[in-house]
Amino acid sequence: PNPLYAAMPATIFEHMSALCRATGAINLGQGFPDDPPHPALTTAVARAMTERSQQYPPSPGVPELRDAVAAFYGRTQGLALTRDHVIITSGATEAIAAAILALTSPGDEVLLFQPAYDAYAPLVRRAGAVPVFVDLHPPHWRYDRAAVEAAISPRTRAMIVNDPLNPAGTVASAQELAMLADVCTTHGLFAICDEVWETVRFDGRRHASLLAQPGMDARTVKIGSAGKIFGATGWKIGWMVAAPQLAQVTTRAHQFLTFTTPPMLQWAVAEALADDAVTGELHARWAQSRGVLNEGLVQAGFAVLPGVATWFTCVDLNASGIALDDRTFSDRMVAEAGVASIPVSALWEGPGPRHVVRLCHCKPPALLERALAAMADWK
Ligand code: GLN
Repeated sequence: PNPLYAAMPATIFEHMSALCRATGAINLGQGFPDDPPHPALTTAVARAMTERSQQYPPSPGVPELRDAVAAFYGRTQGLALTRDHVIITSGATEAIAAAILALTSPGDEVLLFQPAYDAYAPLVRRAGAVPVFVDLHPPHWRYDRAAVEAAISPRTRAMIVNDPLNPAGTVASAQELAMLADVCTTHGLFAICDEVWETVRFDGRRHASLLAQPGMDARTVKIGSAGKIFGATGWKIGWMVAAPQLAQVTTRAHQFLTFTTPPMLQWAVAEALADDAVTGELHARWAQSRGVLNEGLVQAGFAVLPGVATWFTCVDLNASGIALDDRTFSDRMVAEAGVASIPVSALWEGPGPRHVVRLCHCKPPALLERALAAMADWK
């Protein structure tokens, strides 16, 4: 095989979704809702399509959306931001790539916490930097200061923190955030904070960003996603939020990746972000579907791991009395029961847990019931 494949493996998400498209299996693998788009998005985008420019918008994003993102975080997270803090990207994955390209140089080390979203390590490597992994452990996936410190060297440049954490659905505590911030300031590290699940929380708490910790203002790039906020993953509207001087650096990387992002989608997201009723409605829908999946799993004898956020629920196979490793379980369940899942070891390098699978809950309850029945029969 082409040796370049080793640096850029095929993503498990596309693998599982392609299998579902080919076989008709129920897709609880890749995270996306099945519902039609919210009318707030579709009416706004239709208007922007006919009434506004379809030409290159400014590279950092249309002013309306940069303002709307700043206002949204002011309202929902108490952050004091201006338009100059916000750079719009073509999805959070582009934002992650841009932040890595902007902040790391060949030979730098970047701390990644495992399980790690599968784009991080390949992007770090293709930037010429070296990923250094810090393992989190189920069932609580807590951040341990000694483990973080042990991974730091004079070449460490940055850490990537995904909070809330995909796939686990856990959220860093106030103490953990303070600890991570202290490590960054003590060792002079940048923090690339992938916070795309910030609004998808079911513990009733307001999201707290590492950006708001003391000393983190000038060294944090906070990444968000309209796809997650509005359950419209194909829209690929994301952003980086950083102190203006840092934002000017990351926008240089963005300008050479995609340069701009479709303006009509940006205007539509700007309108929808201003309306808290839209996010509230979607949140209520996901809270309900999450309840259906989690209760159904428990009834069918699956051991659900604790989590309070994201579109995902993790199942502990050992504790469920299933003697298969996660990859075998996922391969067999999609083939034999027609239900796709994500083996968490796909988000891990080196030795780690092989007994956890992730299921997506943001689906119509009737579809979840069908998946649960098929899983219970098959188990
Ligand atoms: N974030 C999605 C998930 O975790 C996957 C996105 C993708 O496939 N690129 O399911």
